[in-house]
Amino acid sequence: MSVSTKTDGTELGNLSLIAAHSHITGLGLDDHLQPKEASQGMVGQLSARRAAGVILKMIQKGKIAGRAILIAGPPSTGKTAIAMGLSQNLGSNVPFTAIAGSEIFSKELSKTEALNQAFRKSIGVRIKEETELIQGEVVEIQIDRSLTGGHKQGKLTIRTTDMETIYELGNKMIDELTKEKVIAGDVISIDKSNGKITKLGRSYTRARDYDAMGPDTKFVSCPEGELQTRKEVVHTVSLHEIDVINSRQQGFLALFSGDTGEIRSEVREQINSKVAEWKEEGKADIIPGVLFIDEVHMLDIECFSYINTALEDEFAPVVIMATNRGISKTRGTNYKSPHGLPLDLLDRTIIIKTEPYNENDISKILKIRSQEEETDFNDDALSLLTKIGMETSLRYASNLIAVSYQISKKRRSEKVEVSDVMRSYELFYDSARSVQFLEDNGSQYIDDDGNVNIGQKS
Ligand code: ATP
Repeated sequence: MSVSTKTDGTELGNLSLIAAHSHITGLGLDDHLQPKEASQGMVGQLSARRAAGVILKMIQKGKIAGRAILIAGPPSTGKTAIAMGLSQNLGSNVPFTAIAGSEIFSKELSKTEALNQAFRKSIGVRIKEETELIQGEVVEIQIDRSLTGGHKQGKLTIRTTDMETIYELGNKMIDELTKEKVIAGDVISIDKSNGKITKLGRSYTRARDYDAMGPDTKFVSCPEGELQTRKEVVHTVSLHEIDVINSRQQGFLALFSGDTGEIRSEVREQINSKVAEWKEEGKADIIPGVLFIDEVHMLDIECFSYINTALEDEFAPVVIMATNRGISKTRGTNYKSPHGLPLDLLDRTIIIKTEPYNENDISKILKIRSQEEETDFNDDALSLLTKIGMETSLRYASNLIAVSYQISKKRRSEKVEVSDVMRSYELFYDSARSVQFLEDNGSQYIDDDGNVNIGQKS
């Protein structure tokens, strides 16, 4: 299964998914989440974008985990584009995983395991850790209480592995300690760049003082009389990454190869209870992200049942699905349902509709795409491309951009002209012409039963 990551570090769909939508940098909304006519690479499709804006807000406020959203509409009406725009607006702090329904069926993983991994990639765990400073930084400061009686003027011991640090910061720190009235038992942090001291709290041996500091004060336990420098480190990882690292069979190297194999359910259960514990203790926050499943009608009934159950999980992301199917069969069953989704899943889904574009929208989108692909179409060529887009599909017309450009290059032209677009239209079929061709010449092809009747016209 090829789930890859957002350019800013978090998960985003596979390469072709990104390339087709590389002109999209967001949903193109204003401050009130209203869609602008054309913004962030997005054009038209206003009510769907408005609806996506509401979802965006809810995800940002953490109010929508465990919900399913379906973006439904005819082919090439921007369903995937809207999901990509949403992911861009969410930014790198919210995990976003994109897969196509057909990717679930692979030889290496069972389909439910593949889905399970995609779900867990979409849940972020922000782990807060208080660690001692690493080698080379100041690790500990001691004040000898016997000499000072608990006062600031005592003997100061700085333990560090880095002599330069001592020379550079030693005096500054003594000044700072004096200025900040640091006394034995105080817990402090030191900014290595300027020697600035910040009081964090008091050692646990002085519980009375600790109580007086209030709940926001960071508390690091250390033996009485010792001051330790600690720093808070925050890592954000996905539940899936924690699974892989803790799965003895795979180990963390599997994260690089992507060859994670099946992960045992006991490992996941242990991780879930550990993460719940960290959350309880305030050591971790859970960030429910987004799992986007394009071409969701490619999933079968078992996958849909899995999704239904997984949405109930305490660590469920928001699941956004997209389909261009109308009433069609749910795979693995003999019954038809709207969008090919089983009714029980459909029932818990909120649906965003996309609609066919008008000529003006198609023209604007093709113009943006041609700029994105660094090509230059003259006005007539763009009009012809728009006409083709209206009569065939936006995606087919988009595909002709690169081809027409190549043809224009061959005749050493700076601009793509009408003749280049016409030539590419003749050379490459859209789906309707391909169907027509098959209807006329179908008998020359091998059929489902392996028969071929070369030379015979149907
Ligand atoms: P399908 O049902 O065939 O999967 P889709 O509805 O997901 O189609 P997209 O893949 O999002 O359609 O759109 C086709 C192409 O047009 C993509 O390159 C997409 O980025 C672009 N596009 C679609 N709608 C818009 C829009 N409103 N603004 C800008 N670009 C768009």
